Amino acid sequence: MDFDVIVIGGGPAGCFAAKHIAAHGFRVLILEEHDLVGEPVQCAGLLSRRAIELSGVSSKILINELKGARVYSPLGACLELAGGRTWAAAVDRSMFDRELAEQAQAEGAFLLTGTRVRELEQTPGGYLVSCGCKKQKDISFSTRLVVGADGAKSRAARWLNLQPGAYKAVICAADSELNRTCTGLADIFLGREFSPGWFGWIIPLDHKRCRIGAGYAFIREACSPRYCLNELINRFPDHFRGIRIVRYTGGTVPMGLMPKIYSDHAMLVGDAACQTKPISGGGIYLGLRGAQMCAAVAVQALDEDDLSQARLARYQELWHREFGGEIRSGISHRLNYSNLDDHEIDTILRFLNKPFWQKTILEQGDIDFPSWLSRSLSGAGPWKTKFLKGMLGVLNWGSALKSSMNLNCADLEQEV
Ligand SMILES: Cc1cc2nc3c(=O)[nH]c(=O)nc-3n(C[C@H](O)[C@H](O)[C@H](O)COP(=O)(O)OP(=O)(O)OC[C@H]3O[C@@H](n4cnc5c(N)ncnc54)[C@H](O)[C@@H]3O)c2cc1C
Repeated sequence: MDFDVIVIGGGPAGCFAAKHIAAHGFRVLILEEHDLVGEPVQCAGLLSRRAIELSGVSSKILINELKGARVYSPLGACLELAGGRTWAAAVDRSMFDRELAEQAQAEGAFLLTGTRVRELEQTPGGYLVSCGCKKQKDISFSTRLVVGADGAKSRAARWLNLQPGAYKAVICAADSELNRTCTGLADIFLGREFSPGWFGWIIPLDHKRCRIGAGYAFIREACSPRYCLNELINRFPDHFRGIRIVRYTGGTVPMGLMPKIYSDHAMLVGDAACQTKPISGGGIYLGLRGAQMCAAVAVQALDEDDLSQARLARYQELWHREFGGEIRSGISHRLNYSNLDDHEIDTILRFLNKPFWQKTILEQGDIDFPSWLSRSLSGAGPWKTKFLKGMLGVLNWGSALKSSMNLNCADLEQEV
């Protein structure tokens, strides 16, 4: 069976790329190893309005709207960022994925679930894709173009000899029952002891249900992610009193700019291509944008019957142009944040807990483009010097330019 394009992985990035390629009349097949698209869920399901609009999914996926967050330091400071604007929505991630798969099928793409890709073999005109199937005999398909959308631990990237991202966050998360009075704000917890290099969170779904998580990043394995989550719960007993874990989830978020996300007759997209935000670990918006760029280049290359890497390199150019700076900035903030000790994090949060900063963050902050906030504040008159000393990163869920910018906490303490 011949296809123009085979997409490995029926997650959001794979389905979105498939949809946009199939819409141009090409024969597209999505291969998904699980029986049901969207399961199991390994995501906190927090999306910006921009991501939801881009995806074109229905409002049925929306569970709760968040108007801000409270950011807690390990030593008790709290930076409250609450405004009238909706920053993000908690969604039903499983339904989100399924709707994207339906969109792709509506454009003519074929979806085969319960089918795991086991091997790629290069042929003169593309690839032979060999799969193991749960319900039938093992099967092979030939294709002109392979799109590797198989997530954080992409085997497609390995088969294609494409070097993975340099960094990762390893996270333990859980769906939980927890009584809360405030459902409009997320809680973010910073601290080296329970989330070195990363952060912990509570995302409320309603007055009784929430998603929680914690993990580590940018360090060699120091502790297990489950330890991080347990430690978070122990250190903030007031926030987690009476919690009942319904289901553990979690996973890995790959981060960084990969040297190459294409090769002859092949492209990577989504987590497989490290299309994630180093500040928050969110990957859906970037994965959808990556999928659009991948599809745009693929459609032209298929039309011209030129699927050489020289032709597909355009995809990476587009990716770097839109997100290269954002990802580089996020990585640099995260690396420097991982050098802060708990006392420094506390001092910075106390400093920022003032109307001027709160207003600025609420007006300029954007969860898809955290660097916009840094950029606009870096030129903000009297605050410039302090910005350059590294406070701004903390607004982006705790990053700071400490080592590269010589953060001097004594200065900040005076201000506090
Ligand atoms: C704990 C956690 C919380 C997160 N929270 C958020 C959040 O709140 N907001 C956000 O934007 N992002 C979040 N992310 C990131 C987000 O989940 C990913 O960026 C997103 O799922 C990437 O989509 P994808 O389509 O690239 O990959 P995936 O969603 O991982 O899909 C890949 C698909 O490929 C399939 N597959 C893998 N190998 C094969 C194979 N050999 N053959 C066939 N099929 C295969 C898998 O079964 C899977 O369905 C979170 C991640 C983690 C780990």
